[in-house]
Amino acid sequence: DTTVESTRPAATPRRIILFPLPVQGHIGPMLQLASILHTQGFKIIIIHPESYSPNHSDYPHFTFKPIVDGFSEIGKHIPEKPDPSFFITYLNEHCADSFTDCLAGLLAEPGEPPVACLITDAEYYFTQEVADSLKVPRVVNWACNIVVLLVYNDLSYFYEKGYFNLTMKDSEYEEPVPKYPSLKVKDVIQTSRNPNGMVRFVTKVMKQVKASSGIIWNSFKEPEEDLMQTLSHDFPIPRFTLGPLQTYLPPSTSNNMFEQDRTFFSWLDAQPPMSVIYVSFGSVASISESEFQEVAYGLANIDFPFLWVVRPGVVKGSDWLESLPEKFLEEVGGRGRIVKWCPQKEVLAHEAIGCFWTHNGWNSTLESVCEGVPMICSPCDVGQPLVARYVCDVWKIGILLEDGLQREGIKRAVKRLMIDKEGEEIRERINRLKEEVKISFDEGESSHRSLKSLVDYISSF
Ligand code: UDP
Repeated sequence: DTTVESTRPAATPRRIILFPLPVQGHIGPMLQLASILHTQGFKIIIIHPESYSPNHSDYPHFTFKPIVDGFSEIGKHIPEKPDPSFFITYLNEHCADSFTDCLAGLLAEPGEPPVACLITDAEYYFTQEVADSLKVPRVVNWACNIVVLLVYNDLSYFYEKGYFNLTMKDSEYEEPVPKYPSLKVKDVIQTSRNPNGMVRFVTKVMKQVKASSGIIWNSFKEPEEDLMQTLSHDFPIPRFTLGPLQTYLPPSTSNNMFEQDRTFFSWLDAQPPMSVIYVSFGSVASISESEFQEVAYGLANIDFPFLWVVRPGVVKGSDWLESLPEKFLEEVGGRGRIVKWCPQKEVLAHEAIGCFWTHNGWNSTLESVCEGVPMICSPCDVGQPLVARYVCDVWKIGILLEDGLQREGIKRAVKRLMIDKEGEEIRERINRLKEEVKISFDEGESSHRSLKSLVDYISSF
């Protein structure tokens, strides 16, 4: 049981202070969580780094507090195209003073109701000490699923065991991980491009998750049932499965960090039902030029229409479409559309979409489940290879490109999913899951109960 016994009824109004990480896959769900808590009678305050401000007009009921993040001072030290780990580490190392001042100020604010707790992104490890020093309970929001939390918690063990020295030639590479038999050793290896740095980072994060007053994650009724015992053993803190948040609130509450293209909708409307392959690798992941070309050849070699999100920055070393094979656009003609960013949830809900070729970010995966869209899985790194393994081997709602991005493998996967009987079965399974998930927040169902427990728990502080 991942919920916490009700302690006492919610006392209102109280304030909750949230501190989300300014990365699309983290801030969107956390603002959705804030919106849900607001519906439960809490006043919401969002602290954010001054360099990134959420769109206030989307959240007229929230109070926003910017804090100095030091980005303006480091100027030339910021890499030209910084990846999020740069930001996350930088924020952890440079925000402690401004965050402490802001939090202390809020706690002492005259005429305001008491602060019930602080909810921060789990990756803001520095905030636990601040919360302790100001005697405010800190609950963490974990932006991914449980298998990723557990594997990160064991990453230093895997590192010492030599996993990251293994290569494809070693027999162990394809073997199951003894503690997590649903995973292969290679899945763990693929989480970390820089294992040493990754181990250092996640060790700090996990230490402070365990020191926190509880953990919330965006999921639904135990899709990872096999892991629940390990979870309660490794994380003996109150735990709340609350999701999918995507089913609780409309897409407008998810805060878009990029400008959305909507011009393709008339084209999409004209495509036959369940025919279009939607391709997107999320807001952070990047691929090499040659991988990008394999995706292009893969799409050129199939007969299905496609909508391809090429986020500027997704191709290492390119601004946008420079490395697209010559004549690609001419050859595919009206069969395909390329955009920089789209309203993904609306796209996945569109009847023309036949499958989602995804990097298996946790939000994208949940969104695909919520709309019953089967997946072709191309995980890049961090939690994605672990999510992809669960999608394909445990839940059996997608097909993994085991050999990475290669045109022949892509063609085969598209055929298996869009034409073969196997694809029909996958579609049936994900549609069944969609129906189960749809009711998560209904009275008495899992996330409804979990929300009540969370509200009671927060109110008991
Ligand atoms: N997304 C979007 N438009 C796009 C591509 C992605 O709105 O063109 C959203 C998507 O709906 C999801 C988020 O960006 O909510 C990506 O989060 P995810 O956890 O899937 O991956 P990450 O970006 O963190 O790797």
